[in-house]
Amino acid sequence: MRFSHHQDGIERPLRAGVAYSVRQDDLFAALRERSRELGVEVLEDSRASTPIIERGFLRGAISDSGLDFRAEYTVIADGANSTFGRNLGTYRRLDLPYLIAINGTWASHLAVSSTVNITLDLARAGGSPLAGFGWLLPDGNASVTAGVVVPSTVRDVESINLQQVLLNMVSTHAETWGIDFDSPLELGRERRLPVGGSVGPVLGPTFVVAGDAASTADPLTGIGVSGAVRSGQLAGDAVADAIREGASAPLQRYSSDLATALKARRRLGRVLLPVLGHRVGRFALPLAAHSRVAADALLRSTFDTALTDR
Ligand SMILES: Cc1cc2nc3c(=O)[nH]c(=O)nc-3n(C[C@H](O)[C@H](O)[C@H](O)COP(=O)(O)OP(=O)(O)OC[C@H]3O[C@@H](n4cnc5c(N)ncnc54)[C@H](O)[C@@H]3O)c2cc1C
Repeated sequence: MRFSHHQDGIERPLRAGVAYSVRQDDLFAALRERSRELGVEVLEDSRASTPIIERGFLRGAISDSGLDFRAEYTVIADGANSTFGRNLGTYRRLDLPYLIAINGTWASHLAVSSTVNITLDLARAGGSPLAGFGWLLPDGNASVTAGVVVPSTVRDVESINLQQVLLNMVSTHAETWGIDFDSPLELGRERRLPVGGSVGPVLGPTFVVAGDAASTADPLTGIGVSGAVRSGQLAGDAVADAIREGASAPLQRYSSDLATALKARRRLGRVLLPVLGHRVGRFALPLAAHSRVAADALLRSTFDTALTDR
């Protein structure tokens, strides 16, 4: 991992196996394959549009293809917007911070490098420093994904043109990475990411909510796949136990199991995001590009693990 801040930078190694870089399509294909191995029928073209409610209990969904899916228990994992979850009463607490993020993909001759660059010198259109960070992540093949993430606690967050922030960030690294920043292979749109348990309730009498729909992403980094997978496992366990026991009581454990799994990071996020958004706080993250101690502390906190001692 290389932390960079203007001309300065620090590179710190990560122990093998601590983090993975995988293309989204490959991850989704692997998840689908594993699900099928476990006997799950995956209906990729069906979207759940309307909840089936019977006597106040969710009993499945009507899909936009007109098919009814009836279920004793339902796991809702429909992502950050979570229209289906919101229909059942989930909401984001407005007093808690969220993140906004955007990414894109560029061809790069450093695509086979194993160095991830974390950039700590984001700037607003006028050039003033902006809290948050950017990343340049080689895919091991031919392209690099670059993105930026900014906490909602920064001043005038809604008026920031995040795509411009991303393009400026990429342009400052374009030469090193051999990127033609004017010609992205893909450019995403700015998305809000609920984080750190800011959405709830995460269960009802016959359903549980998992992943971004339950704001399981890490509040400081926006890394969300691991929290989504973990919450999916816990949701699966809760539903399997409920079916085995013939009663919905095990679903009640899901909320506390999820809180326990994500508790430490939630607390850290609720404390640190307001600080980072503050005028003084935005100078905190760049320390990681100037001090090994700060860089290691950031890595240790992010990956919850010891680093190599190289
Ligand atoms: C720009 C950006 C970059 C990110 N980069 C990273 C990263 O590098 N690493 C990382 O770990 N995390 C990253 N994240 C966070 C990560 O993408 C999410 O936390 C993670 O994808 C959450 O998984 P999920 O399954 O809950 O939601 P999603 O991945 O959003 O999946 C939800 C799925 O539900 C489907 N769906 C929605 N509504 C319905 C419906 N009504 N019926 C049926 N299906 C429905 C959607 O089509 C989608 O397939 C990033 C987020 C953003 C915004």
